[in-house]
Amino acid sequence: MVSMKFKQLGRTKEKIPSIGLGTWEIEDTAEQVRALETGVRMGARFIDTAELYGTEPIVAKVLKKNGEIFLATKVTPSHFGYDNVIKACDASLRRLGVKQINLYQLHWPNPLVSISETMRAMEKLVEDGKIRYIGVSNFSVKRLKDAQDSLKKNEIVSNQVLYNPNAREIEKDLIPFCEKEKITIIAYSPLDRGNILSRNPEIMTVIGEVAEKYGKTKAQVTLNWICSRKQVVAIPKASTVDHTKENVTSLDWVLKKEDIERIDAAKSGFAIDNWGKKILTRI
Ligand code: NAP
Repeated sequence: MVSMKFKQLGRTKEKIPSIGLGTWEIEDTAEQVRALETGVRMGARFIDTAELYGTEPIVAKVLKKNGEIFLATKVTPSHFGYDNVIKACDASLRRLGVKQINLYQLHWPNPLVSISETMRAMEKLVEDGKIRYIGVSNFSVKRLKDAQDSLKKNEIVSNQVLYNPNAREIEKDLIPFCEKEKITIIAYSPLDRGNILSRNPEIMTVIGEVAEKYGKTKAQVTLNWICSRKQVVAIPKASTVDHTKENVTSLDWVLKKEDIERIDAAKSGFAIDNWGKKILTRI
């Protein structure tokens, strides 16, 4: 029996599952659709997609058969002009086969378009009922402040950013800022794109020992550690049913403070770019 945990979305009254389902690079195969559906049926009723991923039609299939799901998608930065935001949203609604998107996120900042123009369009979408909440992704504290300041009637409810034991840059200022401002952090690439266990020996060892202590897998320990942060939820992507089951049950148990602190203390020694692929520097 899965006991999914929920967290408040931003300052809203909405509660979202602490484990959602990522869909970047999923494919329209029976196995992968089954993996998503398994996740949803086990309680991860929160799916993240983006116009850029090309996976909205796959999500639409899952939505059709599985009732209400908290649906998050994203508008691509080249569409941040007012008219293009509206058009991009209409196209996403069509592809997803829904009347409203629960969370519409700016995929990453675009310095070439003024944030107030983009946010004016996002507020129009809320007003027209096409989207419920406004979120951003890959925004620094400075950009987040600018985005908040440019909204007239709404608040930014979430910032989707890279976060896993190998990529902890956001702990410096973004997590404290979001905790203070009650902005939900949606941790993307929480399993370091599948590299969580191979990238760094120190972290691998610590997570391995903790996993053994609880009789859990290393992926489960990783997701539990991420979600131990008050303001953070995670959206692992899995293309197999087994991986999905593992991820969705990763919060069924409590990671003790001493073990959270052990993982906290294990340093990655690396910096990773926002795609989670390259190691930029040794730090
Ligand atoms: P991720 O979730 O960190 O890792 C996915 C990889 O981990 C896949 O290779 C998957 O293998 C493997 N995996 C999943 N569950 C596992 C388990 N229990 N044990 C071992 N391996 C496991 O990577 P991600 O896809 O980059 O990030 C997740 C989601 O975040 C994306 O799908 C997307 O929705 C979002 N995202 C957003 C941005 C942004 O800019 N906003 C950027 C990147 C990602 P299988 O596929 O074989 O199961």
